[in-house]
Amino acid sequence: MNDLEIEKKKQVIGLYGEMQLAMILHEKGWQVHRAYIDEGIDFTITRYWCSMCKKYSNQYIRYSDYKGKQVKCVTNLCEHCKETELVIISRYLQIKTSEGKETKEENIRDFSFHPKIRYDMGTDVFYVWIAIFESIETDDKICYFYIFNTADVSKFDNISIDTYQVTDNQKTTLRINNKGEVLTKGIKYNYDCFNNDFFMNFDRLNKIEGL
Ligand SMILES: [Zn+2]
Repeated sequence: MNDLEIEKKKQVIGLYGEMQLAMILHEKGWQVHRAYIDEGIDFTITRYWCSMCKKYSNQYIRYSDYKGKQVKCVTNLCEHCKETELVIISRYLQIKTSEGKETKEENIRDFSFHPKIRYDMGTDVFYVWIAIFESIETDDKICYFYIFNTADVSKFDNISIDTYQVTDNQKTTLRINNKGEVLTKGIKYNYDCFNNDFFMNFDRLNKIEGL
């Protein structure tokens, strides 16, 4: 493959990962908005929240009589209590998708992830790192999702060094097997958080601070 073909393949893999992620998030109740121009945040996702019921809700649809007909009225009220105005909850996702590089072992690949955001951006900004494997039995692809807040980077990397914000300087290389387990053992830092905390942790996005 020449450089152009490699670049195209990367783009296709990126799109594949984003589409899989979009479908999962949609199933989990999020509206998914894709960036029109790439500025680092790939997806904005939103849901409605009822501060009275303390749970996520759809917008209540009321049926009322209008000129002798039953008509549908969209409201901004909670569908559970039907009286509280919903607020919108947003999460901002930076998504990285990779197929990794082959290693000597058949079922293990090396993934280099390269976060563009390198500081704690608060409670609403998350990374989704997607490792894609070809299934051995079928031709299907399997996606593993590692989901974590920008503040969590300090769990496995030293973000206090001066050069950390130099974006070409530092990559996190993870050795991952075809079950999605991160095998990298850090000397100074611990990568167990990828298996224990980040792995397929879609619930993390739902969490509202202070509740
Ligand atoms: Zn409610």
